[in-house]
Amino acid sequence: MSTVAAISTPNAPGGIAVIRISGEDAIAVAEKIFASYGNKKVSEMQGYTCAYGYAHDEGQRLDDCILTVFRAPHSYTGEDTAEISCHGGLYVTRRILRCILKNGAENAQAGEFTKRAFLNGRLDLTQAEAVMDVISARGERELKMAENLRSGAAFKKVRSCSDKLLKILGDLAAWADYPEDDIPEVEPEYLRESLVSVREDLSTLVKNYDSGRIIREGIRTVIVGRPNVGKSTLFNCLSGFERSIVTDIAGTTRDVVEETVRLGDVTLRLADTAGIHETDDIIEGIGIGIAEQMIDSAELVLAVFDGGSPLSNDDVDLINKINNNFIAIINKSDLEQKLDLSVIREKTENIVFISAKDSDGISDLQQIIETLFELNEESFSSVTAANERQKKCVDSAILCIDEAIAALDNGELLDAVNVLVDEAEQHLLSLTGEKITDAVVDEVFSRFCVGK
Ligand code: GDP
Repeated sequence: MSTVAAISTPNAPGGIAVIRISGEDAIAVAEKIFASYGNKKVSEMQGYTCAYGYAHDEGQRLDDCILTVFRAPHSYTGEDTAEISCHGGLYVTRRILRCILKNGAENAQAGEFTKRAFLNGRLDLTQAEAVMDVISARGERELKMAENLRSGAAFKKVRSCSDKLLKILGDLAAWADYPEDDIPEVEPEYLRESLVSVREDLSTLVKNYDSGRIIREGIRTVIVGRPNVGKSTLFNCLSGFERSIVTDIAGTTRDVVEETVRLGDVTLRLADTAGIHETDDIIEGIGIGIAEQMIDSAELVLAVFDGGSPLSNDDVDLINKINNNFIAIINKSDLEQKLDLSVIREKTENIVFISAKDSDGISDLQQIIETLFELNEESFSSVTAANERQKKCVDSAILCIDEAIAALDNGELLDAVNVLVDEAEQHLLSLTGEKITDAVVDEVFSRFCVGK
């Protein structure tokens, strides 16, 4: 493989920047552009050692640097790697990179270092994907989940399912080779039991997929309520800054504003909508249409009511429009309470009292959301299928096993069962990356940043 280089630190000024070179000629390239103050020869440096010196372009000094050498296979990529830490100025960093490219390295593509680590067997595909999750983690739980996956949790669980399928395939192969022998493992009842057991294991793999997705991407949430109940105030309180227009005049929030907010460790992808009520105002009417669609497609509906006034017909209409996960937020808890809760109680047990104006009661809201979506420590640590690609692989494998079980039940030939079990196995191998097309590999790593 060619020798590649890239700046691994962000494209912004900082205390230091790191330029990484990896590949067969990494050390030779580093030797051409780096001179050590202690006269260390780069080519003689051992792995995991560093030298203090300067980067230069054919003798023209560029910057003081530390060079760290990693020797194959004991490096992130599994190849010889040199890392240059220089001052974190944008110009100086790019200037050193240019010099490295001039001396024989090529520009690394997005995710190329991690892709090489995968191709060199340093990581399985789920671990490689988790590296990107660690980089993009925005909270403690997200980071814990990514770390759990990066240590190979998904791989181990998938591998155990895959081993069970291989055992079944082995039994079927033995039967195909010696059909006259008595092989108890291929008796339909026994085979069925084995397949059902793998299917159960696979189901647990995807069971917590939604928790994982919710941690990473956030819960698609919509705030609804008739005008003036305090939706915009709540939206602004959650997002921490003024974003939608707040006024006393009913109907001033005319279209949908979106914001990702964090409530403790929970991420909400929050949409504030036009107040839902009967209206003649055409522009506002468009906003309301969108709001009603959003109620149906949202994963969580925060329905806001004004605790300081009695329940209105608009409130009742709204309650009747909501069918999915729904929390009733009784706002303005700082005012004298005039709202009769009985109609709301008939529809949901999830009721929280807040004052959006004073940011009161927000932690109760967080707790209800965590309970509603089962976002507890256990669900975070048992997330295994972490992204859509991985989930699809498990879903496809389950589908094949279901078909294999159906084939058995229908008394079809074991050859047919064999084909389906083999197909299920292929899906699991592509999940871990043990058997995968170049196109999928390229697709996975194209989502990485350059330098990782
Ligand atoms: P929206 O039309 O539902 O978006 O309502 P707004 O957020 O624009 O709020 C309408 C009015 O209610 C504004 O005057 C807010 O200041 C007021 N308001 C919002 N939240 C509270 C609250 O918790 N307590 C009190 N007393 N007033 C609030």
